[in-house]
Amino acid sequence: MCPQFRHVSPPCHLGSIEARGAGPHCGVMSMLAAALAVTIRVYDLYGLPADTRQEALAVAAETLAHAGVEAIIVDCNTKPAAAACKLGLGDGELVLRIHRLPKDGAHTLGDAIVRGERGPSTIATVYATAIAERVRRTGGNLATIVGRVAAHELGHLLLGSNVHALHGLMRPSWDLQRVDRGDWDFTVEDAATIRSRLQRRNAALLLARAAP
Ligand SMILES: [Zn+2]
Repeated sequence: MCPQFRHVSPPCHLGSIEARGAGPHCGVMSMLAAALAVTIRVYDLYGLPADTRQEALAVAAETLAHAGVEAIIVDCNTKPAAAACKLGLGDGELVLRIHRLPKDGAHTLGDAIVRGERGPSTIATVYATAIAERVRRTGGNLATIVGRVAAHELGHLLLGSNVHALHGLMRPSWDLQRVDRGDWDFTVEDAATIRSRLQRRNAALLLARAAP
């Protein structure tokens, strides 16, 4: 699989990881260019094998890319990222946690803390043990499903809502055997809402940073 994400944390974000010195997000012009980019810190507390985690993150990033959003993944389980990940969360950054099991049982595959208008929604979680159990029972590829659950939960954060859709990735229950690409992408409407919210959010950040 060709990863659709890049590991970037230039000095004005989190400190360089793989693209040291590239600095693609420094300055007003690059802020404009990055209007539809979102930085996602990933904390794998479950301990997926590194290649499985990378494959899952590539699936999540590819799904967001299909919605017109560039995911800038910061894998906090890699040594170069570890120090940067101890810094406070930057404006607009999201956190994706990979946990073992949810508190309320083994059936929830993931969740997202959505704050609506009360503040930024920043934390999404996927439950790797629950997903592995579902995959064991119904078939499928673990990394692919982890990535799709991650994209779904990140979708809640980006949409600012826990509401589900009738179709596409944001539907509330899944048959893992479905192979139609449309079942695993955001609907046109959800993708448009995500892009619109990101543009508004990043424009507000740009204005705040430009203020004297
Ligand atoms: Zn959901």
